[in-house]
Amino acid sequence: MNNSTPFIPLSEPCLNGKEKEYILQCIDTNFISSIGPFVTRFEEEFAKYVGSQYAVACASGTAALHIALILAGVSENDLVMAPTFSFIASVNPIMYQKATPILVDSEPKTWNMDPELIIGEIRQRVKTGKTLPKAIILAHILGHPANIEPLIDICLKHNITIIEDAAEALGATYSKGRFQNKHVGAIGEIGCYSFNGNKIISTGGGGMIVTNNPAFAKRAKSLTTQAKENRLDYWHNEIGYNYRLTNLAAALGVAQLEQLPNFLVKKRRIAENYNEALSHLEYVYPLPHEAWANPSFWLYCIRISSKILQDTTPVQISEILLKHGVQTRPLWTPLHLMPMYKNMIRLGGSHSESLFREGLTLPTSVNITKEEQNIAVKSLMNMIENL
Ligand SMILES: *Cc1c(COP(=O)(O)O)cnc(C)c1O
Repeated sequence: MNNSTPFIPLSEPCLNGKEKEYILQCIDTNFISSIGPFVTRFEEEFAKYVGSQYAVACASGTAALHIALILAGVSENDLVMAPTFSFIASVNPIMYQKATPILVDSEPKTWNMDPELIIGEIRQRVKTGKTLPKAIILAHILGHPANIEPLIDICLKHNITIIEDAAEALGATYSKGRFQNKHVGAIGEIGCYSFNGNKIISTGGGGMIVTNNPAFAKRAKSLTTQAKENRLDYWHNEIGYNYRLTNLAAALGVAQLEQLPNFLVKKRRIAENYNEALSHLEYVYPLPHEAWANPSFWLYCIRISSKILQDTTPVQISEILLKHGVQTRPLWTPLHLMPMYKNMIRLGGSHSESLFREGLTLPTSVNITKEEQNIAVKSLMNMIENL
């Protein structure tokens, strides 16, 4: 890269709203830490946005998932179904609880956990009298809703808690069927979101738990704040965590949430531009978009067929593109390939491995210009021609 090469980042936060104003309010009023009006305001406005009764802010999406598992009663040796193809934080909190993940392969249609595999395994376990999973962490990866509908009744019947990992899909909704217009994260018993730096809205770091269950909401608030009883003598009835979100971070959250509808419009437009620019490329496939889903298009991904990639990996492609100032990134190494997870129970085949072998994320910042998108596509085309 030299000075005249443009740099097009993968995804950067957009802080063009009232972030500065609200942060200054925190500083002027001395409310920077765990007490202050922005935390409650962020929780209330967030719950309203996604259409949930309660929202509890926490330090990260990972913390939100950890608390969600505790709310679901998951403890040592319990089974929890989770995706093998997701960011690792979808699964690590299961290990924090000393529970055992059952890693589920992706379905080619949405790249999310395959509901047929989940249902098949539950039925099989019922039939043979084997232990049932206590919960499912249903991740909506890359902004595309997971197919939750077929899972609802069977999970309800067998008392399996659905925890939605909506960290990457804030703003995505279902566009058809029983959950039409409902937000991802607000359908299962518990939903978790992340406001890490790379997510669609960011508080620097942060997360949210949503639920319609008042007892869950109350316990989540307690567990994220050291399970402190409301008395002066530092009395605690159980072991809690310091997982609270600061007022400073929540101030950013409120400002970001105000811009979310606009961010979503832009992300959708970015996806349309890429779809169009890439449509004539043979062996390059855009990310899924099912007719029943209204994705958030958080990050735009493509699959490049291994027919043309041959032995070139997405890691190598990313390195080549970076030399041209275009930041891209491979998708996740499937969890069952990593040492901590290689001996876990697995459902399904190796769709996750082909997604890993062929998947690439393109620059998708909210403020990317069409011109920058065209540069990214051109670099990609050059790279493919030279394979
Ligand atoms: C980002 C992410 C998380 C974790 O969120 P943090 O706020 O980074 O802890 C969990 N699951 C998925 C799918 C994510 O992308």
